[in-house]
Amino acid sequence: MSTPLLIRGASQIVTVGGGAPRRGQALADVGVLRDGAILLVSGRIAAVGPVAKVEKLKEAGSAELLELDGRVILPGFVDSHTHLIHAASRAEEYELKIQGVGYEEIARKGGGILNSVGKLRATSSENLKARAQLFLERFAEHGTTTIEAKSGYGLDLTSELKILSLHKELSAEQPLEIVSTFLGAHVVPAEYRHKRNGTREYLKLLEEELLPAVARNRLAEYCDVFCERSAFSLAESRRVLEAGKMHGLRPRVHAEQRSHTGATGLGVKLGAASCDHLEYLKPADIRALAKSGTVATLLPGCDFHLGQKRYAPARKLVEAGAIVALATDFNPGTSPTVSMPMVLALGCTQLCMAPAEAIAAATINAAYSLGRHGRVGSIEAGKQADLAVFEVADYREIPYYFGVNTCWLTMKRGEVIHMRD
Ligand SMILES: [Zn+2]
Repeated sequence: MSTPLLIRGASQIVTVGGGAPRRGQALADVGVLRDGAILLVSGRIAAVGPVAKVEKLKEAGSAELLELDGRVILPGFVDSHTHLIHAASRAEEYELKIQGVGYEEIARKGGGILNSVGKLRATSSENLKARAQLFLERFAEHGTTTIEAKSGYGLDLTSELKILSLHKELSAEQPLEIVSTFLGAHVVPAEYRHKRNGTREYLKLLEEELLPAVARNRLAEYCDVFCERSAFSLAESRRVLEAGKMHGLRPRVHAEQRSHTGATGLGVKLGAASCDHLEYLKPADIRALAKSGTVATLLPGCDFHLGQKRYAPARKLVEAGAIVALATDFNPGTSPTVSMPMVLALGCTQLCMAPAEAIAAATINAAYSLGRHGRVGSIEAGKQADLAVFEVADYREIPYYFGVNTCWLTMKRGEVIHMRD
């Protein structure tokens, strides 16, 4: 057993304790502790509470000390929507978009997701892994300790399995936990586009070859679909998600991002873990989400990067009682950021969420959407010691200093995985 660790001297311990998921007013109730201490034993949180009380515990006597000198400590961020594995940036499209060329026009010219698919297929597993490893280190530098990662830039059997196998390998070999999602239904791949029944043929491949192979090799927990005009229709999305469920994969949905498709209603009906994006949500969708256990995962980094003025109706979702989470949507086309602190800033300024709400959305509610809320997402006795310390005196300063990474130290299972020199 490793030496216990006593963490003290924080100006604030933002515990986000008290159960999951957080809805309505409870979202802002993040449980800020002053004059507190945290005792870690064997990679777990053994106790958290007033310093005088925690210091009296038996293990605290022999513990090493970590003095935070007035910094703020949070649960490590849970980033519940990323496209981790990709081969290259799409900076050339970024410039085109600034010049006014539309996303769908870029996609028609072989850009967009298909651009990333072409590059990924041509890149070796070793090179993809090395690139992902660098980004995982950057996630940790920004206070993130758990991420979800989607396939979807492979879109054939070999390449999809290549991505999902990398999720598994990386999860075993580096400190961040990676929750794997199969997104074979990202778009219809180029080789099927000019066939008369191309979409139908690709979905047949997905159902008869891709999904069975993913399930057989236990390479994913979730099955996702991009339900949008340029990707898959509502009926096609239902088919994909139902097929995923047959193989034991719970649904997640890319829903209502650029238009209203009804994907949120479908997701709720199928018991999806999460509906993501939601810029074009309708009042009936908000009511359906509020009554359900499906998380509304908002990705403001995507709207920001694309220069879109329409953001998801976060306030209405919170007030209706829906479970709101925030994530980066880290991907090379529409949201190339690993920074949860930046996403918190966008959550506050663009979605009108209070800093406390944004923090709960990026920790405990995101953990809930990944089925990890029993183990991560809050600072409570019994939980894994996944923690992030920020060089600020008040948690509101984390989003306030937008674009500045104030993360000073990150810990996964009690081990320091990032520390600023
Ligand atoms: Zn996405």
